[in-house]
Amino acid sequence: MNTMMRTDCRDLNQEELIRLCSELGLPSFRGRQVFQWVQQKAIQGWDEMKNISVLDQKKLQTGLTLQPFTKVKEQVSRDGTRKFLFRCYDGETIECVLMDYDRLKNRDRHTVCVSTQIGCAVGCSFCATGLGGLRRNLSPGEIVGQVLDITHIMRQEDPDFQVTNIVFMGMGEPLLNYDPVLKALHLLNHPSGQGIGMRRMTISTSGVAAKIRRLARDNPQVGLAVSLHSANNTSRNQLIPMNRRYPLEELMAACQEYTELTNRRITFEIALISGQATREAAEEVGQLLKGQLSHVNLIPVNPVVETGMARPTAREIQEFAQVLEAMGIPVSVREEKGTDIDAACGQLRRQVEGEQI
Ligand code: SF4
Repeated sequence: MNTMMRTDCRDLNQEELIRLCSELGLPSFRGRQVFQWVQQKAIQGWDEMKNISVLDQKKLQTGLTLQPFTKVKEQVSRDGTRKFLFRCYDGETIECVLMDYDRLKNRDRHTVCVSTQIGCAVGCSFCATGLGGLRRNLSPGEIVGQVLDITHIMRQEDPDFQVTNIVFMGMGEPLLNYDPVLKALHLLNHPSGQGIGMRRMTISTSGVAAKIRRLARDNPQVGLAVSLHSANNTSRNQLIPMNRRYPLEELMAACQEYTELTNRRITFEIALISGQATREAAEEVGQLLKGQLSHVNLIPVNPVVETGMARPTAREIQEFAQVLEAMGIPVSVREEKGTDIDAACGQLRRQVEGEQI
């Protein structure tokens, strides 16, 4: 059998599976069953589809593949954060993180941070993923597959485990892989799949203004987070090369359009780096966000050996937040997750690939 001609069933929505079943001479309810097994129950093999005969499973396999990731490594932080390194069908590796919070105090909220690309072309100066450039985009099934495989792993410990929130903040720039990301949102949202509400999913972008405008028009009602990091074009050019293509004026115009069309508040993320988290920088942010429906998330950076970035002091962080509050901008300092493991984007992958070289 030629596996190259078959489609990954995690890539397909329910309608596409029903269509494929009819092409294979199977009744349409088989398409609904396959969708539920794959997208809701997160099964790992055909023989787990208990209500589908072996004969029909074999027919399905002529058109479809089911290829869960191979788990290469798992790190568990003292705070409950778990970081996974998965290997794809072609040998590439991707990272994803389960932010599990305190199991006893917060059993209802389980957030997964997914990757959308292998590597990244944006090349932010503080990010380990950007160091190696872009290798390839992930398919919708590979994006959703991170949630499904984490669900499968966790259900072995806790049969009722359910992911409740998704952040598209792992490796890659989600808006530079727009169509697969949008399809992944709909797969994760489907009531016969994971059923995760659109408002419980957040896309994080480095500022691809043209795609922010497109997302505003498509309006899937997901959260949008913009990695702002600096409100000054000169320093933002250094941090996020995307700023040369879409400078702050253009980015903010796209953000205004986004809030007008969707009525949604945008989260602006600011990585605080020692030496750059100054009072003047905070005032520039306050000026830039005047009149924009916004919330600011301050994120003290995880140190990355290759980039030499260091975390600011607690006093610098507090002062930055106070300046914004005084200017009327809602602000919070994001709880840091997994600082005792390689939790910053791209760190684990680089470490493991380095071991293999
Ligand atoms: S921070 Fe995000 S957009 Fe920037 S290089 Fe890293 S993965 Fe790419």
